[in-house]
Amino acid sequence: MRSRRDEMLIEMGLAPIWRLRADHADTAALEAETATASETVADVVAGPADPSDVPRHSSPSSSRVTSRSSPASDERRIAIMRMDWPALKETVAGCRDCALHARRNKTVFGVGDENADWMFVGEGPGAEEDAQGEPFVGQAGKLLDNMLAAIDLKRGNDVFICNVVKCRPPGNRNPEPDEALKCEPYLQRQIELVKPKLIVALGRVAALNLLSRDASIASLRGKVLEYKGTPLIVTYHPAYLLRSLPDKAKAWEDLCFAVKTMAALRSAETAPI
Ligand code: URA
Repeated sequence: MRSRRDEMLIEMGLAPIWRLRADHADTAALEAETATASETVADVVAGPADPSDVPRHSSPSSSRVTSRSSPASDERRIAIMRMDWPALKETVAGCRDCALHARRNKTVFGVGDENADWMFVGEGPGAEEDAQGEPFVGQAGKLLDNMLAAIDLKRGNDVFICNVVKCRPPGNRNPEPDEALKCEPYLQRQIELVKPKLIVALGRVAALNLLSRDASIASLRGKVLEYKGTPLIVTYHPAYLLRSLPDKAKAWEDLCFAVKTMAALRSAETAPI
């Protein structure tokens, strides 16, 4: 009989070889395993993508956060940085600070465990998310849930999920720089309040906004980077993975790397001084 994990790995297109090792710190074995498995996924067929999850239209570099500051924006940022959860949620729900508010149905604040060790950050809501007010509920979201399940994680249980922008960019385009910039204090405050041990940036738009630099996903993967002192790793966006089978194997490597990184962070925290 198939285990739940087998079902998840099949769903991710990573069956039948992929297994999360009991000893996450066993790097050599992990690398050997991922090298083998990446050769096995080529024939796996992914499910159809939800149109709301199609890759955003403009180039990711157009969504880059650039630092611009004015007295008003500084005051706004300071006010946001003082907010607790209720105030932050209320402010995001009523936000009209960029053009995206005009066409939204619902703001998509984020969901999950507000004290999570894991934080996953995507780029922005699609149509389903805009309708439901929850991140990653379309096809890409199903894949994200399966990716989480494959490493024994679950939305809401030690995991917080949110996006760079809280309102849907029309037509699934990338967020514009000014839109990402207006939303950036909200994301920063969410990260400060959650205090995750590890942030996983899903896709290039999330990566470049969190890291404030543009680079390819390929060049950012497999490294422990950081967002204002919080360890951060980068992997592919689930919507992209829905149509790029070879990169699902790489995403699995990234998840294994994330698990290993989390284990190291936790043991460093509990190690005697
Ligand atoms: N894509 C994202 O980046 N975020 C979502 O919430 C949904 C799809």
